[in-house]
Amino acid sequence: PSNMADLSVDDSKYLFLENDFHKSGVAQADWAAKKMVWVPSEREGFEPASIKEEKEEQVLVELSNGQKATVNKDDIQKMNPPKFSKVEDMAALTFLNEASVLHNLRERYFSSLIYTYSGLFCVVVNPYKMLPIYSEKIIEMYKGKKRHEVPPHIYSITDNAYRNMLQDREDQSILCTGESGAGKTENTKKVIQYLAVVASSHKGKKDVNPESVAAAVAKQQSGSLAYGELEKQLLQANPILEAFGNAKTIKNDNSSRFGKFIKLNFDVTGFLVGANIDTYLLEKSRCIRQGNTERAFHIFYYMVAGAKDKMREELLLEDFNSYRFLIAGHVEIPGQQDDELFDETLEAMEIMGFTDEERLGMLKVVSTVLQLGNIKFEKERNSEQATMPENTAAQKVCHLQGINVTDFTRAILTPRIKVGREVVQKAQTKQQADFAVEALAKAMYERLFRWILARVNKTLDKSKRQSSSFLGILDIAGFEIFEDNSFEQLCINYTNERLQQLFNHTMFILEQEEYKREGIEWNFIDFGLDLQPCIELIERPNNPPGILALLDEECWFPKATDQSFVDKLLNTHTGHVKFSKPKQHKDKLMFTVLHYAGKVDYNSANWLTKNMDPLNDNVTALLNNSSSNFIQDLWKDVDRVVGLDTITKMSESSVPSSTKSKKGMFRTVGQLYKESLGKLMTTLHNTQPNFVRCIIPNHEKRAGKMDAHLVLEQLRCNGVLEGIRICRQGFPNRIVFQEFRQS
Ligand code: ADP
Ligand code: MG
Repeated sequence: PSNMADLSVDDSKYLFLENDFHKSGVAQADWAAKKMVWVPSEREGFEPASIKEEKEEQVLVELSNGQKATVNKDDIQKMNPPKFSKVEDMAALTFLNEASVLHNLRERYFSSLIYTYSGLFCVVVNPYKMLPIYSEKIIEMYKGKKRHEVPPHIYSITDNAYRNMLQDREDQSILCTGESGAGKTENTKKVIQYLAVVASSHKGKKDVNPESVAAAVAKQQSGSLAYGELEKQLLQANPILEAFGNAKTIKNDNSSRFGKFIKLNFDVTGFLVGANIDTYLLEKSRCIRQGNTERAFHIFYYMVAGAKDKMREELLLEDFNSYRFLIAGHVEIPGQQDDELFDETLEAMEIMGFTDEERLGMLKVVSTVLQLGNIKFEKERNSEQATMPENTAAQKVCHLQGINVTDFTRAILTPRIKVGREVVQKAQTKQQADFAVEALAKAMYERLFRWILARVNKTLDKSKRQSSSFLGILDIAGFEIFEDNSFEQLCINYTNERLQQLFNHTMFILEQEEYKREGIEWNFIDFGLDLQPCIELIERPNNPPGILALLDEECWFPKATDQSFVDKLLNTHTGHVKFSKPKQHKDKLMFTVLHYAGKVDYNSANWLTKNMDPLNDNVTALLNNSSSNFIQDLWKDVDRVVGLDTITKMSESSVPSSTKSKKGMFRTVGQLYKESLGKLMTTLHNTQPNFVRCIIPNHEKRAGKMDAHLVLEQLRCNGVLEGIRICRQGFPNRIVFQEFRQS
C-alpha cells in the first residue's frame, strides 16, 4: 500500500523484518546438517548447540564456542528452522518451547522490534529508548488495517478492537499487564493517543485531511486545534493522574502507584462521545514514607520546586529539607525538571476545566499533607499522655484546612471517644497521636486523589450524546512476589488471579468450545489452568470463609490480633491445596498462598489495621465543617469513617464494646476492594478482551540488554508459555490459519 512507502527506510526498520541471510537456503541447509538444538545456559537462558552423538538419556553436543558438553535429553529443546527467524506471530513456530519463544523475542528485541504476537495476544518488551514507531505516519499506516496486513503493534491491537467494536457492536477491552516498569502505562497511553486521532477524524465532514489530524498528536502539548475538545481533555487526564498517582521507585522512575481502567465511549459512527476512569488501590502510604532513593508522589516535588511568589505564600511552602515526610529531600529524576512539570500540570488542569479555586484547593491539601509530617508530639513527663510542645506546623495545617487550631489540637491530643454508650474525653499517647496524624495525612491524600478522579470524570463525561459501545483499557500491576508481602500484595495478586482466569477462559476455553461447535474432535485435557481454588481461598464469603472474610471477622472480634487472624486462617485452611504454612516458620505471622505465578509468603503484621483503616473522627468532623468549601466537599461523607474507638483498639490491642455496633455502617478495605474488583471483572467479562503482555527486559532501566532468566520468569508468570503450548496442542488458531491461507 502506498502509505507504507511513505515511511522512510529509517523508520520502517523498527517495524518490518529485513530479509536477512537467516532465511536464505544456506542457513536452512546448515541448520539441518548440524542438527541444531537449544541447551540450557546459565547466562543466556538457552544457547544453540549442534548434536554430535545421541545416547539413551543423554546427548553429546557442541556449543558455538567449539566446546563439547553432555546434556540430558529432557533438557534439550528443539530449534526452529531459520526461516522462522524473528517471526511476527510465534503461534506459527514449528517448535513451540521456552527456548524458541525467548530466542524469538530476543532477536526481535535486538532488532528494535518490540511487539510480537503469540496467537491471540501480544507480547511487548520495554525498549527503554524512544523508537520512531509512534509517529503520525505510523498511526496513518495502521488505520483500518487487519492484523495480518501490518507489523505487530499496539496500534494494530487498538485499531482491530475499535473496528470490531463498530462492526459487531461488542464492547472491547485492552488489558495491559506485567510487572512494574514493563511498559503497561506507556502502552496504555499509546492506545489513547491512537484512538484520540482515529475517533477525532470521524468528526464533521468525512474528508478531514488525515495528515493534519495526525499532526495533532505531535503537537499534543501545545494544544493543537485539530483535536476536538474532548480528545484534548482526554489526553490531559493522564498527566494529571500521573502527577498525583505516580512516583519514582527503584524499578520505574514513573511508576503508577494505582491501577486504572479507562473506558472510552463511542457513538454508532465511531466518534468519541465520553470517557470514564476508574482507579484501584492507590498506594497512599507513599505520602508519608518512601524507600531508599524512591520518591513520594510527583506532585509533592513539582509543587515545592515549581510554585512561585504569591502561590508559594498561599500554600505556606517551605524548602524540601524541612519536610519530614520527604525523607530524602529533593530526590531528582534524571532528565526531568520538576519545576517545569509543575507548570505543565497546572496547565493540564486548566485544559481539563479546573477552576483556579479548585487548583489552589488541591495544592493546599498537598501542602497540608507535608505539613502534617512536621507536627511533633512528646510524652508528658509524669504520664503517658502526648503533648505538642510547639504548634507552628499545626497552625499551618489548620490555616491551610480552614479549621481552628485549638479545636484541632484538642481533637488530636484529647479526643472525645465513645465507650459503650458514653462519650468520654480520652488523652492519647504519643504513639496514638502519631498514628492519628499519619492516618490523617494518608486519608487526606487519598480523598484528594478520589476527588481529582471524580472531577476529571465530570469533564470527560459528555453523555449528552448517545454512546453505543465502549473500549476499555486496563493498566494494572501484575503478580507481586516480594521479599516481604503484605495485605497490598494479597490484593494485587488476587486481582491477577482473576485476570489470569479471564485470560485462560478467553484463550483456551473459548477455543475449545469452538472446536466442539465445529465438530472437530478434541480431547479435552485438564491443563491445570483452573484458578478457581485459589480465588475461592481468597474471596469466599463462608463455608468456609476465605482469607478476606476471615480478616473481616477478626476485625470485629474483641481482643483480636494479627496473630489470632493467622491462627484462624491456619485452622480453617490447613489442607487446602493452595494454602500452606511456610516451612521456615520462625515468624508466626506468616502464611503461604500458592498463586498461579508462584508461592507467596504473606506477612500478616498490621493486617487488622490495614483492613479497618481507622481515622480520628474528631478531626474529620472538624474538616467536614471547614471554612473552605473545597475541604468540606472532600470530607462530606465523614460518617463512613472508621472512628477513634477503633484506633484505640488498634494501638492497645483491646477493643471497646462499641466497635461492634458499628458493623453495619461502613465496610472494610478488603470488602470494598473485592466489590470494585468484582465490578471490573463483570465489565471485562462482557467485553471482547485483548491481552497485551508487557515484559521488562532488565532491572537496570537499560536499553539493549535482555536478562534471559528475568524474561523467562515473566513468560511463565503471565501464562504466555503455557498459553501457546496449549494453543499448539490442537490446531493453529483460526486467525492464524486464515492468515496462513491468505499468504
Ligand atoms: P509500568 O506502567 O508497566 O510500570 P511504564 O509504562 O511506566 O511501566 O514504563 C516504564 C518506563 O519504561 C517508561 O517511563 C519509559 O521510560 C520506558 N518505556 C516503556 N515502554 C516504552 C516504549 N514503548 N517506548 C519507549 N520507552 C518505553
Ligand atoms: Mg504504570
